[in-house]
Amino acid sequence: MKTDPDCVFCKIVAREIPAAELLEDDDAFAFLDIGPLTPGHTLLIPREHYTTVDEMPGDLLARVTQHLPLLVQAVQAATGCDGVNILQNNHRIAGQLVPHVHIHIIPRRPGDAWTFNWPASEYAEGEMGKMADRIYRELERRC
Ligand code: AMP
Ligand code: ZN
Repeated sequence: MKTDPDCVFCKIVAREIPAAELLEDDDAFAFLDIGPLTPGHTLLIPREHYTTVDEMPGDLLARVTQHLPLLVQAVQAATGCDGVNILQNNHRIAGQLVPHVHIHIIPRRPGDAWTFNWPASEYAEGEMGKMADRIYRELERRC
C-alpha cells in the first residue's frame, strides 16, 4: 500500500497523529475535519495515498465511496442539519490543500457560514456538442 511519510492524512491513517475518527475498514477511513466549514464537517479518504481522484483505481474509489450513504445519514442525524454538500477537490487550482484524496461531507443549515459561487454560463451555438465529442473521444481512447 502506498503511503507518503510527509502526508498528514497518511499520518492520521497510521495513527501517528490524532483525529476524531468515525469509520474505518481495509480501504477507507473517515474523521472530522479539523477546520470545519460547519459543525460535523467530515472527511472520507482512501487509506492508501493517492493525490487526486483520477489516479485511483475505480474499484477502490467505489469501495471508499460505498460508505457515503451511511456516513451522510449519520452526520445528518447527529448534527440535525437540513442537507449536506459532498465536495472533492483535485489540484491546487480546485482548492486542494492536502494532497491525499479526500471527500468533504459538509452539513448545511439556513444562514450557515459557507457560501459558494456558482457562475453558471451558456455554451455558444454548437459548442456543447463539440465539447461532448472531445470528451467522448478521450473516453474511447481509455476504454
Ligand atoms: P482541501 O482544501 O480539499 O485539500 O481540504 C483539506 C481539508 O483538510 C481542510 O478542510 C482542512 O481543515 C483539513 N485538515 C487538514 N489537516 C487536518 C487534520 N490534521 N485533521 C483533520 N482535518 C484536517
Ligand atoms: Zn497520504
